[in-house]
Amino acid sequence: MPEPHSARPAGAAAETAAAAKTAAGEPLLSIRGLSKRYQTPRGTVHAVESVDLDIPRGSITGLVGESGSGKTTLGRTLLRLVEPSAGSIRFAGEDLTALSPRQMTAMRRRMQIIFQDPVSSLNPRLKVEHIVGEGLRAHGIGTRGERRDRVAALLEEVGLSADQMKRYPHEFSGGQRQRVGIARALALEPEFIVADESVSALDVSIQAQILNLLLDLRESRGLTMLFIAHDLSVVDYLCDRIAVMYLGRIVETGPARELVRAPAHPYARALLSAVPQPDPAAPRNREVLAGQIPSPLDPPSGCVFRTRCPRALQACAAAFPAPVAVGPGRFAHCINL
Ligand code: ADP
Ligand code: MG
Repeated sequence: MPEPHSARPAGAAAETAAAAKTAAGEPLLSIRGLSKRYQTPRGTVHAVESVDLDIPRGSITGLVGESGSGKTTLGRTLLRLVEPSAGSIRFAGEDLTALSPRQMTAMRRRMQIIFQDPVSSLNPRLKVEHIVGEGLRAHGIGTRGERRDRVAALLEEVGLSADQMKRYPHEFSGGQRQRVGIARALALEPEFIVADESVSALDVSIQAQILNLLLDLRESRGLTMLFIAHDLSVVDYLCDRIAVMYLGRIVETGPARELVRAPAHPYARALLSAVPQPDPAAPRNREVLAGQIPSPLDPPSGCVFRTRCPRALQACAAAFPAPVAVGPGRFAHCINL
């Protein structure tokens, strides 16, 4: 179970100790009690509620759940592209929520996002050279010629060609636009990348190419990633760990292989039974989800999944369940496993 965050020790010696601890295996990113609520004319939207999550250095952690479960909000909030309503975010030993805007600008170089929609996130009026080089320019890195060389190298690194920098986004296929988005995210040499639904809109064969590119980049650049997707088949291939999210809450976390083979939480089981199996003879428990995800304007009390859960008990209405260990490094938030 994730340890609670302790108060940050003061002084240079403590800083060094914190850095050493990070190198020795503290997660690169560690969030506690993270919530994001939006005040709207219709009420408070509970987009992300009291999330605890550790992302080990060098890992690819998958974040899965139906549309509307809060994945994008969580991904953006942990980069502070969206301000959290509550909670703490530690990245490489620093408490991001305590940083000044100036310190946060410097930190942003180290944490990047590949946005969910490659069409709307790439400015149609800018050439790819501009789009990929934008961060370099904003941070005042290199001369114009040096930036062009850097963009050329980045495009080649993601499987495009340097001369494609003169083209506009509409001249690229869906898979190529994702590659442009990846090149842009890599430009500032980040340690950590949030990839938001990077393959969800692509054909299966193109998906595999992008997933393999991400795996290659993890190796060659030692990247740590949070990979957001709405189904489990993709994350099973790519990820070391998986966190399953439902209506703003993480309901189960664990090593990818074990979680996919035997999901414990009723929501994770239902999500998994929607995934087509390559081997039709493989045993599986079908648990089909009834109804729609409730509105985050008025989430159910207690366990947010109880209104759709085949195993719900009266007690599920009382409180959101504490994590229960269901295997090594595996936790499910459920009182009726
Ligand atoms: P996902 O990425 O899992 O589909 P999102 O994080 O995009 O989910 O959205 C979670 C919930 O928060 C949704 O109900 C969405 O409508 C709501 N939401 C997201 N952004 C805002 C916003 N800026 N204002 C109000 N509600 C929002
Ligand atoms: Mg999303």
